[in-house]
Amino acid sequence: MKCHVCGAELKRIVTDMPFKTGLSRIVIIKQMPVFQCEHCGEYVLADDVMGRIEIMLAQADRKAELEILQYAA
Ligand SMILES: [Zn+2]
Repeated sequence: MKCHVCGAELKRIVTDMPFKTGLSRIVIIKQMPVFQCEHCGEYVLADDVMGRIEIMLAQADRKAELEILQYAA
C-alpha cells in the first residue's frame, strides 16, 4: 500500500485517534490499526477498519462530550 500524498510506502502501526462526531463531541478510539506514511506522516485507514470505526461511532454515547473506546474490545 502506498501513500496517496507522496507515494512512499506505508507502514502498519497501532495508534490512538480522535474523531469529531459533533459540534463539541469527540470520540477517541484507542489501539486502532492504521497505515502511516514514513515519509510525510499521512494516516490512511483500511476500508475494514473504517467500517468498524463508523459502527463504533454510531453506537457511541451521543450525550457524552468525550468518549474513549478501545478498538479491540
Ligand atoms: Zn506520504
